[in-house]
Formats: sequence, C-alpha cells, structure tokens
Amino acid sequence: EPVGVDRMINEVLDRSRTAAVAKEIVVRWEGEHGLTVYGHEGQLVTALANLVENAIAYSPEKTSITIHSEKSGKRVKIAVADEGIGIAAEDTDRIFERFYRADQARSRATGGTGLGLAIVKHIASNHGGRVEVSSEVGVGSTFTLRLPSRPPAGASALKSQTRMADMKTKGRP
Ligand code: ATP
Ligand code: MG
Repeated sequence: EPVGVDRMINEVLDRSRTAAVAKEIVVRWEGEHGLTVYGHEGQLVTALANLVENAIAYSPEKTSITIHSEKSGKRVKIAVADEGIGIAAEDTDRIFERFYRADQARSRATGGTGLGLAIVKHIASNHGGRVEVSSEVGVGSTFTLRLPSRPPAGASALKSQTRMADMKTKGRP
C-alpha cells in the first residue's frame, strides 16, 4: 500500500528524540515533502529508525544528523547523514551481515547485537529497494534507502497481462 514518507519521517523523528536529546544531537529533515513509497509502513519505519538510531549511537555529542528525502526516477531516496565515527572501507560490506560490528563499535561499553543493519537490508530488499552506505572514518557516514514509489513490477505485469487478455477476448480488427 502507499506509505507517506512525511508520516514515516515524522514518526522516526519522534522515536529518536529522547536518544538524540541525551547526546545533544540535532536531527533535521530536509528535501522534498509529500513523497510516497510503496510497502508496509511499520517495516519501513523500523528500517529508517534503525539508521537514525545508529547515526545517534555512532556520533559524538553535539553533532548533527540530517535526513534527506527526494524523488529519484521511479524511486524515493531517503538518506541519513551523520558526523560520527565513520566506517573503515574494509568494514562497509560486512556491516550489513548479521552480528557484524566494526571494531570501534565492538569495544564500546554500551553494546548492540549487530542486527540492526541486517534488518534494514532485509526490509529494503523485501520492498524491491536497497540500502547503501558511504562513509569516511572520523568524518561521518551516509546511509541511503532507495525505495520504489509504485507497486512491485510483478503486480503491474499482472495488470498488463490482464489488459492483453481482455483485448484478445474482445477481439481486435
Ligand atoms: P544493533 O543495531 O543490533 O543494536 P549494532 O548497531 O552494532 O547493533 P548494526 O546496526 O547492524 O548493529 O550496525 C553494524 C555495525 O555497523 C555497527 O556495530 C557499527 O560498527 C557500524 N555502524 C552502523 N551504523 C553506523 C554509523 N552511522 N556510523 C558508524 N558506524 C556504524
Ligand atoms: Mg544498530
């Protein structure tokens, strides 16, 4: 079903407020409003909330996090950019694996389990989308969710098949 991106982002901002305030981190939202993606709202909110939760967890106090939303072809791009510890190049592929945590994260006193990004990747691919990262150690990271703004190809292929079958039964000159 169609899911409003504004609603999604507002929900994620609400959920992350306490954690952000505790570290005096400002989470802002910029970009296009009124966008729609296609899928399961609860799951999509979970995915985005995981990215923002990480951005807060792996950033020093008094930094900024920016959520950016924009239409990009048939897809909607939602990016979460932080000014945090960053991720070493050799870790960027592996962080999406279950239980994988980069060194700096493993040695942190407050620990997660290393499942967050595996869940994000799973949700993105279930929606016919994807999640990507670009990062520089000591500078920050940007995680980008790309989600389809329309029903999956299977659904529309089925519709056009039905239309073709319709045309056949009705006969054409
Ligand atoms: P969990 O999310 O299960 O509580 P986690 O945060 O360690 O635990 P993931 O969310 O899967 O697990 O992230 C995996 C690893 O990727 C993290 O341990 C950390 O090393 C790295 N990472 C994820 N997001 C960021 C980020 N925004 N900045 C720096 N490193 C990150
Ligand atoms: Mg996490």
